[in-house]
Amino acid sequence: MLIQTDTIAAIATALSDSGIGIIRISGEKAIEIADSLIRSKSGKKIVKNAKSHTISYGFVVEKDALENKTIVDEVMVSVFHAPRSYTKEDVVEINCHGGILVTKKILDLVIREGARLAQPGEFTKRAFLNGRLDLTEAEAVMDLIHSKNEISLKASFSQLRGDLSKIIQKLRSEIIYEIAFIESALDDPEHISLEGYPERLGHKCDEIIREVKKLLDTAENGRMIRDGISTVIVGKPNAGKSSLLNMILGQERAIVTDIAGTTRDALEECVNLRGIHLNVIDTAGVRETEDRVEQIGVEKTRKYAKDADLILYVVDTSVDLDENDKEILSMIKDKKIIFLLNKSDLEQKVSENDVTALLGSSHGDYAMIPTSAILGKGLEELEKEIEKLVFQGKIENNDEVMICNLRHKEALSQTLNALNLVKKSLEDDMPEDFYSIDLMEAYSRLGSIIGEEVGDDLVEEIFSKFCMGK
Ligand code: GDP
Repeated sequence: MLIQTDTIAAIATALSDSGIGIIRISGEKAIEIADSLIRSKSGKKIVKNAKSHTISYGFVVEKDALENKTIVDEVMVSVFHAPRSYTKEDVVEINCHGGILVTKKILDLVIREGARLAQPGEFTKRAFLNGRLDLTEAEAVMDLIHSKNEISLKASFSQLRGDLSKIIQKLRSEIIYEIAFIESALDDPEHISLEGYPERLGHKCDEIIREVKKLLDTAENGRMIRDGISTVIVGKPNAGKSSLLNMILGQERAIVTDIAGTTRDALEECVNLRGIHLNVIDTAGVRETEDRVEQIGVEKTRKYAKDADLILYVVDTSVDLDENDKEILSMIKDKKIIFLLNKSDLEQKVSENDVTALLGSSHGDYAMIPTSAILGKGLEELEKEIEKLVFQGKIENNDEVMICNLRHKEALSQTLNALNLVKKSLEDDMPEDFYSIDLMEAYSRLGSIIGEEVGDDLVEEIFSKFCMGK
């Protein structure tokens, strides 16, 4: 991939009124450009002579055609000399007063002096191309910025620290050792014997397959931690779905009424429970209905419930279970369900046993919690159950490396396929060069995770999703 060295600039902070705004410049002319724009109080140039990793006080000045100078803003300038910077190039960061106008004005001046406006993610792309970060680490930068909760933040940080890269590199070096061994033995059969080797390679493959599978096993939790658990609230009209959603959200968002069938369309909300991100959909009450608008809602329930990671099934325990409950259960039986036995403050007509009986014998994992939306009861138990049921209690102990990125997951699946082919060739007693072909495939699939052997297109695509100034 072509490494560009021209000088790029962008506003690195959010474009809104704020205390501080930062304009970041990176490239060969970064220091020269900043030097021409910034003066000390006594009017001296200060950037060129500034030591690396220091910050200086000064003013951004604008010159007109007659060399008259006007002060644009009072600033602090940080200087980082290559290669000890984020991009491994010369980097200057101008900290000015926040506010859209000032930051844009200074960026304009920087561009007028010869910098080019950076594309989204271009600073991190340079960090990658210049070898400061590998691809997983660069992707972690983006995930860190977009983290929606503490757990995902922790996972991104671990990836940024290189925890995933280390595992991938270790597996790759084990694979390349085997490839090199086979190649050398084929080249020099007199000195290197392949006797007994297939058995040894078989054990090695098993070991690597185990490690790849272990990573892949974390991908499902990783996805939910990064993007949120897709959660759907279902139940008969009037069971208290909207009231419970409001309780979870801690605010009045869904409309609560005592007329059955009020929540006609699905509402989507994001909630954080104990650091876990939930995308909650409140569906229209499921029941046989003549009303067309409501029918559409029922269809949506079917659709959302089908794709959900978790179902919150609200049961009105003050009225008997009926055919409608049977109907809803038949749609969601094999999902992870938390039954919220709601209206526990009223006289109880439905017990846990009644629900279990209705559920029958074939079903997925489930849990039951008594709740009362009116009394605000059951939230804490719900949080605990989600952790237990959805993550099998595995996220408390998330020091293990977690796969949160679909691209990594796919590459790992391909690695697994290639390794299984090696195993197959071993079982079928194929010639040794067959092993190397599939081992090489596994090696390069793992490489694609950390950014070795990836095409320009993929690099472009990954970095284009970044935000401006990063
Ligand atoms: P939805 O149709 O399932 O969304 O139900 P709503 O949330 O609109 O609630 C229907 C009615 O039940 C409203 O009058 C609520 O105030 C009432 N309700 C909801 N939860 C409870 C509860 O835990 N206890 C009692 N006593 N009433 C509740």
